[in-house]
Amino acid sequence: MGSQEVSTVDWQGKHVTVAGLGVSGIPAARALHERGAIVTVVNDGDDERARAQAAELEALGITVRLGDGATLPPSTELVVTAPGWQPDKPLFLAAAEAGVDIWGDVELAWRLRGTNGCPAAPWLAVTGTNGKTTTVRMLASILEAAGLRTAAVGNIGVSLLDAVLGEQEYDVLAVELSSYQLHWAPSLRAHSAAVLNLAPDHLDWHGSMEAYAADKGRVYEGNTVACVYNAADPATEELVREADVEEGCRAIGFTLGTPGPSQLGVVDGILVDRAFVANRQKQAQELAEVSDVDPPAPHNIANALAAAALARAFGVEPAAVRDGLRAFRPDAHRIEHVADIGEVAYVDDSKATNTHATEASLAAYDSIVWIAGGLAKGATFDGLVTGAAKRLRGVVLMGADRALIREALTRHAPEVPVVDLDRTDTGAMAEAVEHAARLARPGDTVLLAPACASMDMFTNYNKRGEAFADAVRAHAEKSA
Ligand code: ADP
Repeated sequence: MGSQEVSTVDWQGKHVTVAGLGVSGIPAARALHERGAIVTVVNDGDDERARAQAAELEALGITVRLGDGATLPPSTELVVTAPGWQPDKPLFLAAAEAGVDIWGDVELAWRLRGTNGCPAAPWLAVTGTNGKTTTVRMLASILEAAGLRTAAVGNIGVSLLDAVLGEQEYDVLAVELSSYQLHWAPSLRAHSAAVLNLAPDHLDWHGSMEAYAADKGRVYEGNTVACVYNAADPATEELVREADVEEGCRAIGFTLGTPGPSQLGVVDGILVDRAFVANRQKQAQELAEVSDVDPPAPHNIANALAAAALARAFGVEPAAVRDGLRAFRPDAHRIEHVADIGEVAYVDDSKATNTHATEASLAAYDSIVWIAGGLAKGATFDGLVTGAAKRLRGVVLMGADRALIREALTRHAPEVPVVDLDRTDTGAMAEAVEHAARLARPGDTVLLAPACASMDMFTNYNKRGEAFADAVRAHAEKSA
């Protein structure tokens, strides 16, 4: 199916099982029911919230089975699943055995686009281990600057199904896709797509690095104009080579260095395009300055280049790339500058919940007091510590798995002073910031980039970042 064609499934009387109540399951069940499908929702949980949600759906005539998400209803012709459900669930095994298709929320949105009377907008898709949300938001900002009707959708802002079926018409959508979502999206065909980077993550879900990469690589299948890859991450380029794309679709690289033909890159502080120009052997088009990107950290410049590549693939003019990047502001807790106190910068990158993100964050500063620790999720820290050792002024560790980071520091950076906080109450962050402030020298950056999940001490990474910012402000008052 070409990317602009719209599928015409006849939903009337089709027996569809929706796996999982929740943010994607409920709108999916409603949309299918409205189109005449006979919908059964199955859900593992049977708590008060699930019962209230079930009652609302049942009032519409949708069957809901609570407390058993494992058994496939016998007449099922299609399963629509929430993206997070583990692929080896008995429900899916039963569906596979019965020859029943399984679609995720993305596949459903893709198949339902255009069925509400609005023309189906093309998708510019972004995936990768880190940087998806940032890149998709930068892309939407650029598309808006170009005067296009667009939205950043996926795990952010508007849900995909709402964007596709809502009343608002779009010219193009900037779509964030996770590896889970791609796993269940067999017929998705984006106009153009980018894989930002590939590092081990969610391997428990996918089973192996190869399976994880293969799911990410699905984003390139059937692209019509550009497959955007990271020249510094050969695994992403390999995925482009393996993809089956439409005739004429180009591989476009992005690099923090000087770009070759068919690449976007950086020359003397300027983001330049050597891909979407008339003569790419000889010509390069200036797009924006590095200082137009907030924050201008190397990994974020890479995100900006990927967003620019997708926008240029869609035909956006260079001036709109610059204006869109200038208008973009990062979300909270992603390398967020909190304060300068006594010539020391305090930066909150609480969203750095894995080592790959933290590596990027540590690479952005010359001399760092690093606050880290939490739930390691099976990660090891040797590579991270080795890469950053020379730039560490000191380290403050907290959280359940802090010993893993401390051991890596002992092995690879024994001279760096380490404060090990043996407490997990909410007040620990204030103490961490006090220690960090004592270790810091003028010109240093105190960086919260935990390389770990937050749930051992905080509700989520937002709360962890807020605790850090509160502690920094309290420290500023004391120092004033
Ligand atoms: P995602 O949506 O993929 O989780 P975000 O844009 O929310 O990505 O960023 C998540 C974390 O990853 C942030 O802490 C940020 O510092 C880090 N990060 C962002 N972009 C990159 C990148 N291109 N490479 C490595 N790390 C990155």
